[in-house]
Amino acid sequence: MILPDAALGMLGGGQLGRMFTLRARAMGYRVIVLDPDPNSPAGHAANEHIHAGYDDQAALDRLAKSCACVSTEFENVPAEVLEKLAGKLPVRPAAASVAVAQDRITEKSFLRDNGFATADFRAVNSKAEAKKAFEEIGAPALLKTSRLGYDGKGQAKVTTAAEAEAAFEKFGGVACILEQMVPLDLEISIVLARGFDGAVASYPAGENVHRNGILHTTTVPARISDELAIEAKKIASGVAAQLDYVGVLGVEMFVSGGRILVNEMAPRPHNSGHWTQDAAVTDQFEQQVRAMCGLPLGSPALLTPVAMVNLLGDLWAKGEPDWGAVMAMPGVVLHLYGKKEPRPGRKMGHLNCYGATADEALRNAEGAFARLQR
Ligand code: AMP
Repeated sequence: MILPDAALGMLGGGQLGRMFTLRARAMGYRVIVLDPDPNSPAGHAANEHIHAGYDDQAALDRLAKSCACVSTEFENVPAEVLEKLAGKLPVRPAAASVAVAQDRITEKSFLRDNGFATADFRAVNSKAEAKKAFEEIGAPALLKTSRLGYDGKGQAKVTTAAEAEAAFEKFGGVACILEQMVPLDLEISIVLARGFDGAVASYPAGENVHRNGILHTTTVPARISDELAIEAKKIASGVAAQLDYVGVLGVEMFVSGGRILVNEMAPRPHNSGHWTQDAAVTDQFEQQVRAMCGLPLGSPALLTPVAMVNLLGDLWAKGEPDWGAVMAMPGVVLHLYGKKEPRPGRKMGHLNCYGATADEALRNAEGAFARLQR
């Protein structure tokens, strides 16, 4: 067990790293963040911020020497970097688990090969393959770049073979995946923590609404049948077990025609788990600390219905949002990430809003969100 006062290393300095850092420090750990951006949200909260790229050997050596254990807050840290670090200190989650989620083709193939249902898909590495894949999958379909896509970026809806070919060319001929676009009853996710010993603490399913490919709200408990809620947890635990995963894992799923299809997974705390900060016994960042340090996992029990709403940079279009208006609402908790530049689509913060029921919590979240807009 790695106990408090040890230094924990975090690769990546965004909001997830920041919330991890604040939680770890509240538990008595020290945190060293590696991120090239001198204004990184996590860097500001850390005991030490190493401003360097993820491929800077001297910086990685310094991190390895100073820390008892290292984790990552985003999946695009090169898996080779994690592997190299693993030769020197514990890296959790392991490079191999992170690598699966770095590439949509590997990810979807892993899911399919292990018996988890997904939307039908084909790997696309050439224009000819784009055409063939479209002919096999049919309309409507989504072409997604296999790597480095997030929040709906690097995705195009295609309804003809010619559109599939054109989208492949528009993405610069990089490896892509063509997926059947399935009708969505709703979107859900499971966030869970898994320890060394294989113990799993799974949060209840969250019900997610996306706008322009970016998460807008998560409502908990998801308004789905008990059977589906149990099935979703079973699937996510199965995925974590197959990966022999240690850490916090987010698994995004579609409910389509009453069936659950796995869409993607994130080898880290997930935006759809931010509600846990104010409405679960143990929040997902504390679970990240516990899992990486080999401590027993905390209870994932839900304390009250809750809805999270994301605050994107768009809210700043007419100036600073009206914080006073939401502070005046009972049962609304504001989280901001300390980012200086509010660009459209950029995640700046979120609100966690309570309600007596999931419906009421979501209404409160939408109400608070509307009040912020000037
Ligand atoms: P992703 O980047 O894969 O998480 O996709 C972003 C969002 O696009 C998802 O949350 C869905 O709302 C939508 N989406 C992605 N893939 C599909 C699909 N195969 N069928 C229907 N909707 C999808």
